[in-house]
Amino acid sequence: MNKSGPAFTVLTWGCQMNEDDSEQISNLLMRMGYQPAGNEEDADIIMLNTCSVRSKPEQKVRSKLGELRALKELNPDIIIGVCGCMAQKEGKALRRRAPHIDLIVGTANIEHIPEMITGVLRDRHPLALLDLPRAVNDQAIVPNRLLERGQIGLKSFVSIMYGCDNFCSYCVVPYVRGKERSRPPAEITKEVRILAERGVRDITLLGQNVNSYGKTLDENRDFTDLLALINEIDGIDRIRFTTSHPKDLSDKLIHAIAEMPKVCEHLHLPIQAGDDEILRAMRRGYTVDDYRGLVSSLRETAPNVALTTDFLIGFPGETDEQFENTLRFAEEIRFDSAFMFAFNPIRDTAAAALPDQLQPKVKNQRLRRLIEAQNRISVEINESHIGELFEVLVEGISPKDPSKVTGLTRQNKTVNFPGPASLAGTLVEIRAVKAHLWGFTGEIV
Ligand code: SF4
Repeated sequence: MNKSGPAFTVLTWGCQMNEDDSEQISNLLMRMGYQPAGNEEDADIIMLNTCSVRSKPEQKVRSKLGELRALKELNPDIIIGVCGCMAQKEGKALRRRAPHIDLIVGTANIEHIPEMITGVLRDRHPLALLDLPRAVNDQAIVPNRLLERGQIGLKSFVSIMYGCDNFCSYCVVPYVRGKERSRPPAEITKEVRILAERGVRDITLLGQNVNSYGKTLDENRDFTDLLALINEIDGIDRIRFTTSHPKDLSDKLIHAIAEMPKVCEHLHLPIQAGDDEILRAMRRGYTVDDYRGLVSSLRETAPNVALTTDFLIGFPGETDEQFENTLRFAEEIRFDSAFMFAFNPIRDTAAAALPDQLQPKVKNQRLRRLIEAQNRISVEINESHIGELFEVLVEGISPKDPSKVTGLTRQNKTVNFPGPASLAGTLVEIRAVKAHLWGFTGEIV
C-alpha cells in the first residue's frame, strides 16, 4: 500500500441530500486527519451512504457489502460503516447478513461519526446509532453541520431542513428521515456566507419539501423569507432549490422566483401522475387541476421559468386509461424535462400492501411510452430556444468533449461551447446553436 497517512472513501447512492451528507462525512473525516483515498483498497475507513427510495440502489449496496467482505478478511483493521436511509431502515439487522460492518449510522446521526470511529478503534466492537426525531416539533435532532468545508467548487448544496411529514403512500422517507424540522435562517445564511467567501457562486438549497420550510421554527419565517435573506449575500450569483411540493407552493414563492434577481428561473415540481384517483391513492394532497392552476400562475408571473417534474408510472391499480391521462398531461403541460420511474413497492410503505400490483412488463411498457413522449417534448422545447442568449456559469472543460467548455444556464440546462479552460468560474453569455435532450451546444456572443 502506497499512501502517506490514514485514508477514507465515501460511496454514495441516491439523492442530492445524500450527496450533501457525504460531503459532510468527508469533511468530518478530514478533520480527524484522514485523507481521501485513491481507491477502496487504500482506505482505512469505507462509508456506504445508502438509499432506500428504490430497490436498485439497495441491491447495489448489498452487492458492494459482499465485495467488501473479502477486503475486510485481508485487512481486518479496515472500518466499514453504513449510513443513509438503508442504515436507518434496517438498523442492526444489516449486520446479520454483513457481520463485517463496524458502524451503522442513522440519518440524523452523521455528526457523531467521529466519536463512533474513535469508539470502534478503541474497543474493536461494532456500534450503531439510530435515534430519530419522532414527535412533532422535536427540534432536538437538527444536525449540527460542519461549516468548514474541504474542497469546494463553484456549486454547493446547502441542506435547509430535514425529514418529511407528508407520508406519500409509496415513499419511505418519512420513516427513515423522521419528522420535518428546519434549520434556523441565521445558521443557513452563515453557511452560505462562508461558501461565498470560499468561491461558491451557485447554491442549491435542499429539503424534502422546501416549500414548507419554517413551519417548525420559533421565528416567523417561511421559505420565501429565507430566499430574500440569501439573495442579499455578496458573491452568490445563483440560488436554486429542490424539492418543491405542489400542495405547499405559494403565490409568494412564485413571485419570488419572478422577482428576486439571484433566484434561478427553474422550478422542479413533482406531479407523479396526471390522474386524480392515482394522486389520491398516492396521498399527494393535490388534484390534477390544482397542479394545472399552479403552472398557469407560474407561467403568467414568470414566463421564462423552466419547469421540470417527476413521474411515477405503474402505481398499484393504475388502469390503461389512468396511464393515458398521465401521458396526456405530460403533452399538455410540456415539461422541460422529467425524472421518470416505474413504481416498485418499498417494504413498510402503504403502497407496497395495496392489491393490484402491476406486472413489470406493463409498468415498463408504459414507462417507455412516457419517456419517448417526454424526450421528444424536451428536445422540441430546447429547439424553440435556438438563437436565444443564455447566461452560463462556466464550470470547466466538458468531460464529454475536451474541445469545449461546459456550464449551466439559470434554467438548469447544460451548455457546451468552444472556449478556453480559463473561462472556468466566469459568467458568459452564449447563443444556443443546437438543441439536445440535456440542453444546447452554443457559441460565445
Ligand atoms: S413529500 Fe412524499 S415523496 Fe417527498 S419525501 Fe415526503 S413522503 Fe416522500
